[in-house]
Amino acid sequence: MIRDFDITIVGGGHSGLFLAGALAGQGWRLALVDPQPPVPPDGPPDGRNLALVRSTREVAERYGLWSALAPLACPVEAVRVRERPGGARLATDMQELDGRPFAYGIEHGALRRALAEALAGLEHRPSFFQSHLEGLARDPDVRLLTLSDGRRLATRLVVGADGRGSRLRGLAGIRLDAWSYGQAAIGFVVAHERPHHHTVHEWLRPRGPLALLPLPGRRSGITWVEPEHAARALVAEGEDALLRRLAEETDHILGEMRLASAVGSWPLGAQHARRYVAPRLALIGDAAHGVHPIHAQGFNMAVADIAELAGALARAARRGEDPGGADLLLRYERARRWANQQRIWMTDGLNRIFSSEAMWLRPVRSGAIRAVAALPPLRRRLARSRMRLL
Ligand SMILES: Cc1cc2nc3c(=O)[nH]c(=O)nc-3n(C[C@H](O)[C@H](O)[C@H](O)COP(=O)(O)OP(=O)(O)OC[C@H]3O[C@@H](n4cnc5c(N)ncnc54)[C@H](O)[C@@H]3O)c2cc1C
Repeated sequence: MIRDFDITIVGGGHSGLFLAGALAGQGWRLALVDPQPPVPPDGPPDGRNLALVRSTREVAERYGLWSALAPLACPVEAVRVRERPGGARLATDMQELDGRPFAYGIEHGALRRALAEALAGLEHRPSFFQSHLEGLARDPDVRLLTLSDGRRLATRLVVGADGRGSRLRGLAGIRLDAWSYGQAAIGFVVAHERPHHHTVHEWLRPRGPLALLPLPGRRSGITWVEPEHAARALVAEGEDALLRRLAEETDHILGEMRLASAVGSWPLGAQHARRYVAPRLALIGDAAHGVHPIHAQGFNMAVADIAELAGALARAARRGEDPGGADLLLRYERARRWANQQRIWMTDGLNRIFSSEAMWLRPVRSGAIRAVAALPPLRRRLARSRMRLL
């Protein structure tokens, strides 16, 4: 038996769940496919943490999802950047802009669970298939999907939200440009003695950036980038040595610290799909693009994709149009691919300039930060570009 849907989302991570929440009120027959349970069990946090920028909050509000995220998210009211070893500093406060938070710190697992719970509470939630996508075929009017448990779905549009290794992207024959940075990000959460004052602290170091992201309570998320071998060695040294090194690297600003999550390590690379669409198929989130975490953009880019696609699908629903129409898909690709390409180049450039031992780059880096610090209009412009992806 083949089940029929208008839109099937493959992948129920952050991007797939957010898109499902945005589409749930539009009247489509929706399906969501992911091998993990619809609401993940409440296990120990894996250490990853995310900064959700202002435009992400606005899109979440538009689709009624923000009320589920707000209690778990800590407003970011100030950003302090320090460059090493040059010592240049850059400080931006929300009062310099419009007095509203730049971003919100949230844990990776908490975000996923909150999105899943919000979706489970919706009246028109998608039919959920706890399975892997395995096969893809094409008819003029539908895409036929085969799942790993043998079930088959026919859908007028299939959306790939299945992450960096996207099976859907591979099955559709969409090619990928990808490269590695030879770095890994160590991620964990600490509980600490001194308040974080809702401030993001970022150290730009030749080995890689290190950031403290405020979380609710006296807790902060750490994203600490090192060359891959150094990251492995740091994690292997164990909790005491890791926290000692963290205190030294962060000038002891949080006081006494203790671990409040597992310690994870993620190899870093960037990638970009050459196409975001194919007949009756679209890619969003990490399935379409992956960036270095230096600028905290990855999921925020996904939400900008979702805003564009969900907006186009809402118009199609009102006009009674086909959700997999070629014009709709091409407009989506045109709106998002170039915008994401620029973000990929920007984060790539920043990482190459700031994560480099080259002596000649040192005065360039310090000079650039001092120039931005001395020019408030430029500082405000950079802050706006970082917090607005739409
Ligand atoms: C250290 C680190 C720090 C980061 N910091 C930030 C930050 O501050 N701000 C920010 O915006 N972003 C940040 N990011 C990026 C962010 O975590 C990702 O962009 C985001 O989580 C991607 O979500 P996704 O749903 O697109 O992909 P994923 O989270 O990879 O989800 C993919 C889903 O697809 C499912 N799936 C896979 N294969 C199949 C299949 N065959 N069939 C069905 N389902 C399948 C998986 O089970 C999974 O649920 C960071 C990333 C890292 C590693």
